[in-house]
Amino acid sequence: MKPRTTCPGCGGIQLSPTWRIPRQPVVLNYRFATAAAALRVPRRDLRLAQCGGCGLIFNAVFDSAVIPYDECYENRQGCSAAFQAHLQAQVRRLVRRLPARDGRVLEVGCGKGDFLRLLCREAGARGVGYDTSYEGPPVAEDGRVRFEQHYVSAREVESPFDMVVCRHVVEHIGEIGSFLRELRAIAAAAGDPVVVIETPAFEWIAAHDCFWDVFYEHCNYFPRPSLARLCRLAGFKVERQTAVFGGQYQWLELRVRQRCWPACKAATVVRLSPFAKRAERMVQALEKRLRQHGAARGWAIWGAGAKGVALVNRLHRLPPALVVDSNAAKQGGFIPGSRVPIVAPDDPCLRDLSLVLIANPRYAPEITCALRQAGIAPTILTT
Ligand SMILES: [Zn+2]
Repeated sequence: MKPRTTCPGCGGIQLSPTWRIPRQPVVLNYRFATAAAALRVPRRDLRLAQCGGCGLIFNAVFDSAVIPYDECYENRQGCSAAFQAHLQAQVRRLVRRLPARDGRVLEVGCGKGDFLRLLCREAGARGVGYDTSYEGPPVAEDGRVRFEQHYVSAREVESPFDMVVCRHVVEHIGEIGSFLRELRAIAAAAGDPVVVIETPAFEWIAAHDCFWDVFYEHCNYFPRPSLARLCRLAGFKVERQTAVFGGQYQWLELRVRQRCWPACKAATVVRLSPFAKRAERMVQALEKRLRQHGAARGWAIWGAGAKGVALVNRLHRLPPALVVDSNAAKQGGFIPGSRVPIVAPDDPCLRDLSLVLIANPRYAPEITCALRQAGIAPTILTT
């Protein structure tokens, strides 16, 4: 595949040289029941480039068709107490913006629907969620929440809504410029309610040299000024943009912009190329650190989300014996691109290991506590 020569966000043609990360699994949040199936996951190169116009970082050889967003796609993080606390905080923030009862919420890319159900329950609202990876009953919460197992377009929105939610979607969309314009059309068709976007912030990834936060499923990496600019270009007014979840995510509240606005100048954004250099060095440094702590005798990663899966694949010279995850839907499966099994936190195999690497530092307190409660005292490293 030839790398694209225009920015998928703003159409700009001033692109940085690309950073190539070879042969990564195309899907990370996916249930594989056997090691053989996990090893057969398709692999593709990433070639990240940054647009000199809007600052967007994107995979210039991204092919969305190779990623199966079907029922086996599984990226729920709600089993973690820290993530639950984050969801609850965001729900409380949104409840305040909805009518006291019977508000209407539309979610674009609702996953398995957990957030929409929680929001509608807390707000006494009604909701419609759209996602190809949704699985479950088509209605929930006593008929107040409905799910559609397909993508949504503005044509389908025929009644007003009080809120449009789009969480952890924009980083997966190859044609991000046209997606944001469609999102604006959806908002306009819904009567111009507040539109909420949550997505990772590239500033956090760069500040932590977090090479394991770069993987195929995410074709876009948004420095905060870059996403704000793309939203404005798509015809939104950015009412609020804040860092949430310890800075790992950014949260935007948008409204449809009614009149034309002169395009503002691109703000200074975090650059890709220094991060790419540091990230490559970080792979070696982490491998060395693991060896120094006895990883050759067997070690584990805690967290089978995208970060954990990316770590297994980038540290392929030193594979962990297992990956621990509290999400029951992942346990018993295998890490995509590897033979590494995913086990429950109380799995007896964990007792044989003396080293655990925590994939996301945000979860370190609860993981340390779970290990202590299980009476296991391995060396704990955080990324
Ligand atoms: Zn651009």
